[in-house]
Amino acid sequence: MIDFNDSPHDECGVIAIYAPNEDVSSMAFYGLFALQHRGQEAAGIAVSDGQVVRLHKGLGLISQVFNPQNLAPLQGRHAIGHTRYSTTGSSSAQNSQPFMIETQYGPLAVAHNGNLVNASELRADLLRKGVGLSSSSDSEVITMMLAGAEGTNWSERLRNTMPRWQGAYSLVILSRWCVFAVRDPWGFRPLSVGMLPSGGHAAASEAGALRTLGCEVIREVKPGEVIALCGEALRVWQALPPAPRLARCVFEHIYFSRPDSFWDGLSVHQVRQNLGEQLAREMPTTADVVIPVPDSSIPAAIGYARAAGIPYNDGFIKNRYIGRTFIEPTDSLRKQGVALKFNVIAENVRDKRVVVIDDSIVRGNTAGPLLRLLRNAGAKETHLRITCPPIAHPCFMGVDMGTYDELIAHHKSVEQIRQHIGCDSLYYLSLSGMMSAIGRSEGYCQACFTGEYPLEVNFQSTKTGFEKDWSRTGD
Ligand code: SF4
Repeated sequence: MIDFNDSPHDECGVIAIYAPNEDVSSMAFYGLFALQHRGQEAAGIAVSDGQVVRLHKGLGLISQVFNPQNLAPLQGRHAIGHTRYSTTGSSSAQNSQPFMIETQYGPLAVAHNGNLVNASELRADLLRKGVGLSSSSDSEVITMMLAGAEGTNWSERLRNTMPRWQGAYSLVILSRWCVFAVRDPWGFRPLSVGMLPSGGHAAASEAGALRTLGCEVIREVKPGEVIALCGEALRVWQALPPAPRLARCVFEHIYFSRPDSFWDGLSVHQVRQNLGEQLAREMPTTADVVIPVPDSSIPAAIGYARAAGIPYNDGFIKNRYIGRTFIEPTDSLRKQGVALKFNVIAENVRDKRVVVIDDSIVRGNTAGPLLRLLRNAGAKETHLRITCPPIAHPCFMGVDMGTYDELIAHHKSVEQIRQHIGCDSLYYLSLSGMMSAIGRSEGYCQACFTGEYPLEVNFQSTKTGFEKDWSRTGD
């Protein structure tokens, strides 16, 4: 697979809808569309009509997975949906979500954003009990644990199961009669709830997706909270107390979330502008123009230019539709590299000292080619500014940043990275500068920068850790 993006990869977007007066599957479809940036490998929607839960899912973009023919049978009042980037488990059809099973209490479908850090123990426990698993995903472990949990209703079964889940989970769960929105006690991943204009409610990974559905956004689901969307009023309860140290993912601000979303009550667009302003204050640069690496760095570049008093302009034009592709390019196209995704507006950079704003460097394989494009277009100097500190540690809570070996900042100094990518200067925003731009001093996970994980992690675990070559076992 060709991946043109060196930013961290998010893992998923989820949506839950109770819409008694609407075509719920089409609402789920459009809600997922607004979350497509969170995952492009697979998508699925499950709908309940009060008796039967029906599911359609598959590999690909939402527009590739769904069409009017396969949406038509998904009739009902409750729906959940999922768009996936694989974190635990590979990008295979079995790992696509929602997971749906028949339980002794009726049908159950689950969609998950996040990663459990104790998934391997939980998985081994299920297998010991004879529970069969069909995928390598920790989300299936969550589904099977719920199906076998003690309790007279799903609320009780959730309450009895959640204490065993360590790590990141923003879940949407569909039963015959209800959808539930569930958030882990650390608050790693976002989840917001809103009211539909035609009656009913929706919950989604990002408030921007709720607004796409015409919702009045009510608030974020609180860490450790469960919200049931089943009738006119929301039912809300605190299933677990919030963790003493909350650990919202700081990368939602830096890269993942849509700029029109809110995270921790803060406008993502505003925070990104603040990050750019803070960068300009920490590392003033004499230059002629400030350009962003589109799209996520645009607000930060605007903020940088404003604070530095340097004109802002477009430098790169991005082909927004290329993303990740499984079509191998020809050798001559492969040599084009990132030029398949970005073109330079030469007249905006020619003979200029250019400040380039980007959100992150992960493996360090696209910054160099991007800077080369600028130099080939005649840029006199290139100064790369990054809106977060160096990423030197992997994420075990559901963001694909690669392994220690793959992270360039784990084994190279900033000066070595500068030489590797080839620019006149390189500066990363400081940790304290990043937090002051966000306007918070605590409540966030920063483990990929500091190596201080908010919970115990298994350093051996990998994205496809549960996948096994059964042909070699002799079983
Ligand atoms: S390690 Fe980094 S990417 Fe992962 S949850 Fe923490 S802040 Fe987010």
